[in-house]
Amino acid sequence: MELVTEAEGAVGVIGQRREVARHCAWCGRRLPDHGRIGRPRRYCAQPCRQRAYERRAAVQRGGLPEDAVVLSSTELADLQDRLFQLRCAAEDIMTAAEDGAGGEELRGLAAGMVDAARGLERLR
Ligand SMILES: [Zn+2]
Repeated sequence: MELVTEAEGAVGVIGQRREVARHCAWCGRRLPDHGRIGRPRRYCAQPCRQRAYERRAAVQRGGLPEDAVVLSSTELADLQDRLFQLRCAAEDIMTAAEDGAGGEELRGLAAGMVDAARGLERLR
């Protein structure tokens, strides 16, 4: 059983940005923002679509190597969201430092980044 704790203040730091980034379901690259028309694309390019297809076929055959890590698309999206939060937390520290923030403020922002990094220790 996993116990997850959240330090106070971290949510406020991380929650300042609410952008929703979409990523290629195979390689994880950011996908360009799509228009409102049609279904949003899942892959950045044809080779990614092909490799994803091959992976699905391998999973169905049970032919994956023993150390393969298979994430569902939901798990991957969740992981990428948490990576994005970590980057935002790091950028917040960078911005604050460039703006001449004091040690107390930087310490608070760093605490938020530690929490974001801790959230990344789980893969799913
Ligand atoms: Zn891709």
